[in-house]
Amino acid sequence: MKRIGSEGLIYAFSPANEPVASVELDETFLVECPDCYSGQIRSENVLRPQIDTTIMDASTGPIAVRGVKAGEAIKVRIHDLFLDSQGVMVTSPGLGSRGDLIEEAETKIIPLCRGEALFSETLRLPLAPMIGVLGVSPAKGSVHCAVPGDHGGNMDTKDVRPGNSVYFPVFVDGANLALGDFHACMGDGELSGTGIEIAGEALLSVSKAPGLSLALPVIETPRSFMIVASEESFDACSKRAVKESVEMIADFRRLSTPDAYRLLSATCDLRISQIVNEKITLRMVIPKTVMAELPRSV
Ligand code: CA
Ligand code: ZN
Repeated sequence: MKRIGSEGLIYAFSPANEPVASVELDETFLVECPDCYSGQIRSENVLRPQIDTTIMDASTGPIAVRGVKAGEAIKVRIHDLFLDSQGVMVTSPGLGSRGDLIEEAETKIIPLCRGEALFSETLRLPLAPMIGVLGVSPAKGSVHCAVPGDHGGNMDTKDVRPGNSVYFPVFVDGANLALGDFHACMGDGELSGTGIEIAGEALLSVSKAPGLSLALPVIETPRSFMIVASEESFDACSKRAVKESVEMIADFRRLSTPDAYRLLSATCDLRISQIVNEKITLRMVIPKTVMAELPRSV
């Protein structure tokens, strides 16, 4: 099996980045990724204010997918995530949703043992491995790996995990996928500014999603589609998620806008993904009983 090592890293998603590897459609491949600190914090003596934040969320890639063209859409299947033996959580004044509660920077190393994270001597947490940064190259410009957007990137959405898939619009030939920033577990919101940050390897495959014209990433779980929107404010983000979702539901069920709007309101959940990045991320959960498939243009 092809294994793509973490020697080739990007710090921003951009069409200027040359691919470090390429894969075939439907090929299963393994990608090695650093943690969100690029491995700078390996002991409790290293504090968040001491590290180089410009290289945070460095992502392995770009990985070109052969035969994929700009204007198409891809489906990235997450088959498995293999985590390192220890994760880290930092707190620091100003970091996260209420960084004013924190007076002194502190680093906690969190070992993993037999499917659990050893949060403290008395508290073990079940692992819920997920990918924080997963995205494709934007059409132009450059987006730092710490920032989410229509290309994906730092979405910090806990449903980006094994068993689920993520659809992306493709802006450049080959899609130029990159990923990193794994979490051993994280709650909705990523409230202190971090999950249990950890390095690891992801087992992925990519297929084409013919006929899809997507504006932003969509996660598929066994029971739902999740429309993932990232914007600068909660207001703009929720409005975007609602509009895109109403259009998709109307399209799939051939409903008028008012009918689709009512159906959305009666059945869909708007959930918080993260509120701590430069843009916040929300996801609209559309049950498959409402929208069995993503709408395809013929
Ligand atoms: Ca992140
Ligand atoms: Zn992270």
